[in-house]
Amino acid sequence: MLEAVTKKYIDSSTEEQFEYSFFCDCCGKNVSTTRYSFKPGFAKKLFLSRTEQRAREIIWQRDHDSAYERANIEALKILNRCVLCGAVVCGDCTVECEETGGKTVCLTCAKEHRYRGVIWKDNDETVSVDFGNETKTSGIKPHQYGGIKK
Ligand SMILES: [Zn+2]
Ligand SMILES: [Zn+2]
Repeated sequence: MLEAVTKKYIDSSTEEQFEYSFFCDCCGKNVSTTRYSFKPGFAKKLFLSRTEQRAREIIWQRDHDSAYERANIEALKILNRCVLCGAVVCGDCTVECEETGGKTVCLTCAKEHRYRGVIWKDNDETVSVDFGNETKTSGIKPHQYGGIKK
């Protein structure tokens, strides 16, 4: 079983369908992926023989695994991976930074490194951010833009 793309995810699969939700590593926003119904390939009937039941379980397990893989791939398309810390975050928490040549960085890293950049909000709005001018610091030396100060 491969590791989930986000730190937190929920498997709400049932006997009838497969469903996974992922959560932004930064703000915890829920990202739902496509639901798939389980089609074991048996004719629908009320009672299955022991062998059929066992077969159904095996097929379910196999389909459950591939649904999980598919959900992870889908989540990665919706979310972005931070090039610095590897966190997988939603659009609202993704900053395209000047300092990284437009590569995506999570909001936490952008703040930590006092980067400047653009956030492409999930509603297609863009917001410019500049953490270089923030006075608040957590023990990290501020970036010195434009060379060393004398
Ligand atoms: Zn987020
Ligand atoms: Zn990061």
